[in-house]
Amino acid sequence: MSLQNPVFIPGPTNIPEALRKACDIPTMDHRSAAFARLYRPAVEGVARVLGTTRGEVLTFPATGTGGWEAAVTNTLSPGDKVLAARHGMFSARWIDLCRRHGLEVQVVDAPWGEGVPLDAVEAALRADTGHEIRAVLATHNETATGVISDIAALRRIMDAAGHPALLFVDGVSSIASTTFEMDAWGVDVAITGSQKGFMLPAGLSILGLSPKALASMERAGCARAFFDLRDMRAACAAGGYPYTPAVGLIAGLAASIEMLEDEGLANVYARHERLAEGVRRAVAAWGMRPCAVRPDLFSPSVTAVVVPEGCDGTALVKHAAEVYGVAFGVGLGEVAGKVFRIGHLGMLTDVMLLSGLATAEMCMADLGWNIRLGSGVAAAQEYFRGTAGTSLRAAA
Ligand SMILES: *Cc1c(COP(=O)(O)O)cnc(C)c1O
Repeated sequence: MSLQNPVFIPGPTNIPEALRKACDIPTMDHRSAAFARLYRPAVEGVARVLGTTRGEVLTFPATGTGGWEAAVTNTLSPGDKVLAARHGMFSARWIDLCRRHGLEVQVVDAPWGEGVPLDAVEAALRADTGHEIRAVLATHNETATGVISDIAALRRIMDAAGHPALLFVDGVSSIASTTFEMDAWGVDVAITGSQKGFMLPAGLSILGLSPKALASMERAGCARAFFDLRDMRAACAAGGYPYTPAVGLIAGLAASIEMLEDEGLANVYARHERLAEGVRRAVAAWGMRPCAVRPDLFSPSVTAVVVPEGCDGTALVKHAAEVYGVAFGVGLGEVAGKVFRIGHLGMLTDVMLLSGLATAEMCMADLGWNIRLGSGVAAAQEYFRGTAGTSLRAAA
């Protein structure tokens, strides 16, 4: 196909040309020193992005979901109790995965659009005087609803309750797009994938593991083979992999880190905040609102836009794909049809995003929604021109 638009889905994200090229390398013997030279800077770079010097970074040829499975099976045993917040499709799917591995999941629910319910988590931890809860599971950025949760606050609650559970954080749609402080937040397992903030094709699951998480590896009783961290760690220590790595993606990961650090991580995060605000200005101008119920929950990487009564968010996404060749995200699960999602993470500029907002407006008009063409675009333009060049200058 000779025509290509950017995508506005919250992953996989747009792949910069330089990263596509970086992934395109000749076949390499993964047992060679050349592979070790490629791999080491990639994992060291990921550690910087995760904010860890104490933890260890490992990758698997998989996706974010594989990272969940690796986290759970390498630290827990069937029958172990975990406490999990559920407030969207991704947090719900993680709970399902735990149950399939025979874990007992104590779920704390919050309405979709809310964040991790800190009060309910605190109550559950304080009630667990026997410390049966082995791990707390939180989704940093719930991609289904566009909600970011406060992981530092979650850690404070765990500490205040004196609870020794491990803290597992799904950072698939937050890591490399917004601040993540694995050590400072006391995260024991941080999970992400290659196809979101790292701007690469899907195919790598990326994990950060604290010393405490690694220490539970031996006694964990869940069945594991492909995702056995003991094999992976031993191979990694020798500069390799226990099986064939996705070498091209690892080359891409090293280049992605370089690209992110070249812009400056603080600038990358500021760019995401700014793009997100531009989208929200447009949403407000359309007379709509984000699914996230409060400003402190607004995600820097994705906005789930609640569509007006009588409108179908899925129809908009379908129309955009079929008529304009542009991808937005559909509403998932409980909010299917009620929202459509604008992904604004990864390699994205003001100009790209304005084209997405303009396309969304054309779709709304085509579908007969009550919308004035240009209204949201103008609101975003005003915001962007008022703050223009900040990220470009910082990156220069
Ligand atoms: C995308 C995503 C996942 C799933 O990752 P895959 O790479 O598709 O397996 C999990 N959690 C969150 C928050 C996500 O955004």
